[in-house]
Amino acid sequence: MSVLPEDWALPAPTAITEAWFTSRTIAVQTCAECGSRQHPPEELCHRCGAMSFTYPALSPNGTLHSYTVAHYAVNRALAPHVPYAVVLVSLDDAPELRVIGNMPGVPIEDIRIGMPVVAIWEEHHADDASVVHLPQWQPR
Ligand SMILES: [Zn+2]
Repeated sequence: MSVLPEDWALPAPTAITEAWFTSRTIAVQTCAECGSRQHPPEELCHRCGAMSFTYPALSPNGTLHSYTVAHYAVNRALAPHVPYAVVLVSLDDAPELRVIGNMPGVPIEDIRIGMPVVAIWEEHHADDASVVHLPQWQPR
């Protein structure tokens, strides 16, 4: 079950976001100069300003840091899915980083701050036949 409708605009991966959206791993942008990790991926390292990165796959395990429940559909396409949870996950391998997502198929009343979660990937096909894998979260 996906929260996003099939015709939802998908991210168009770029050189700096491709690993995140296509690798089916928690590929966190890591500075090749100073080793600092950052998410979401950006052009420059926040610590040293370097522009070269690696994208090592971290553990798919995380801890639910916070969440909110959307009761109002900000886009008409989301109306069939309200209420739904938007979760913020702290990665076990990089607790300083937070990743946003949903917990598809998990009843809202079962979602708790501090619960251990694991990434799953939703496969979406764009109009140009490219495939994007969006990380989502499930209890573990
Ligand atoms: Zn750096």
